[in-house]
Amino acid sequence: MEAWIPLGYLLSAALFIFGLKKLGHPRTAPRGNQYGAMGMLVAVLTTIVDMQLASGGMNWELIIAGLVVGSVIGIIMAIKVEMTGMPELVALFNGFGGAASALVALSETWKYIEGSAVVPEGLTLQVIMLAAGLSALVGWMTLTGSILAMFKLKGGIEIFGKWFSTPTWGPSWLNPVKVLLTLSVLALIVMAIGEPTNTNYLWAIIGISCLLGIVLVLPIGGADMPVVVSLLNSLSGIAAAFTGFIISNPVLIVAGSLVGASGLILTFIMCKAMNRTLPDVLFKSFGGTTKETVTRTKVGSDPDEVAMMVDGAQKVIIVPGYGMAVSQCQHQVKEFGDLLEEKFDTEVKYAIHPVAGRMPGHMNVLLAEANVPYEQLIEMDEINPEFPECDVAVIIGANDTCNPAARTGEGPLAGMPIIDADQARTVVIIKRSLSVGYAGVDNDLFYMDKTMMLFGDGKAMMTGLNNAIKEI
Ligand code: NDP
Repeated sequence: MEAWIPLGYLLSAALFIFGLKKLGHPRTAPRGNQYGAMGMLVAVLTTIVDMQLASGGMNWELIIAGLVVGSVIGIIMAIKVEMTGMPELVALFNGFGGAASALVALSETWKYIEGSAVVPEGLTLQVIMLAAGLSALVGWMTLTGSILAMFKLKGGIEIFGKWFSTPTWGPSWLNPVKVLLTLSVLALIVMAIGEPTNTNYLWAIIGISCLLGIVLVLPIGGADMPVVVSLLNSLSGIAAAFTGFIISNPVLIVAGSLVGASGLILTFIMCKAMNRTLPDVLFKSFGGTTKETVTRTKVGSDPDEVAMMVDGAQKVIIVPGYGMAVSQCQHQVKEFGDLLEEKFDTEVKYAIHPVAGRMPGHMNVLLAEANVPYEQLIEMDEINPEFPECDVAVIIGANDTCNPAARTGEGPLAGMPIIDADQARTVVIIKRSLSVGYAGVDNDLFYMDKTMMLFGDGKAMMTGLNNAIKEI
């Protein structure tokens, strides 16, 4: 039986890697997800058999109770969560992942310190302490940072007062504090290695790491949030890898490293897409602490007027954003595109900004659900040169991702590349009001002469527009 254990670990690692590969394309992504889930099942079963063989009597009641409670909570959360709440859920899961790894590392290390378990062959208590310290630093920092990120994605909650209900809070003295806290934890890890039986160091590492997570995420807001969420995801993997080392579990090391590495790659992709560097995101807070107040006005249009205007358009580019996710109007958007193609022989494309919505790939997921062909989803860099030849840009619930304020070099959106919808001949914007987007910046695009505002919920407006087109 023992000979099968490494094979089980190898199989699960292979499934994770194939799963990741399949996640690289929307068409194969669902299969990738299934591979990942299968890999996790094989990993859990192999670990249980491995532990049974290694230590004999296992506390089955506790294990089964944990599996049942965890599964029930997971299923309820997955069923209840709205599509727009997914990013918050992902942020929360990142945090729990980091904390779970750090807790396992702590409990194992405790056994070695107490002497109730023997340090595995080839390792020393000092090496265990190094891994435990790093796991605690990364894991606890991920927990507190992720919880704060979740509140920021939610837009804050009142009981935490104004700091937490606003996007950023980062006075300049916070940067030296971050460096000081990081150095203190590293110094404590060195001290813990020198005196591995003194558990006070571990508690101090945990406390300071929790504080560090908060201090790191507190100043980050606006356009930088996607980057920090993906960084926290990567950190949760790194914490798992350190813990895998302590409990000598190869699949945890492999899975943790895969999450850590892929999360880091995504972080750098997001940084590039946002025209930021990682140090900029972590050490330069953007914008003020309040959302801009909208003072200008604009007269709204109606679906009939817009339908008459798109009649005769040769090229229409649809720009989806967070509002499409809120109103869940992706099916109506697809119907709109189909109607234009069938009735007016219009060329229809979709412009996808890398951070539109509230999670990476948010728009792709929604439009794929509505069966929009992948070939019509065009990335920002590729579609932007096409706007000057575009008759109508139809923006559905997008705001920051096409806000020309990003080109000005100031404010929370400064430097973020945007969809050049303002260069289309006519712009139609569907949203409920003139209010600001996630970064809290007023949008000049709404007030341009060539812009028609269609005020209302995305689904209601798209349905009205489709009906108006059908009647032409
Ligand atoms: P924004 O968040 O900038 O704007 C969305 C707009 O949708 C709002 O202005 C709102 O206007 C409108 N809206 C809301 N509900 C509805 C509805 N029911 N019907 C119609 N419109 C509606 O969206 P973008 O997608 O342009 O930008 C995403 C922002 O989120 C960026 O700043 C990005 O940095 C940030 N972010 C992205 C993450 C990611 O990974 N993608 C993660 C975290 C943050 P109104 O209230 O007037 O209707």
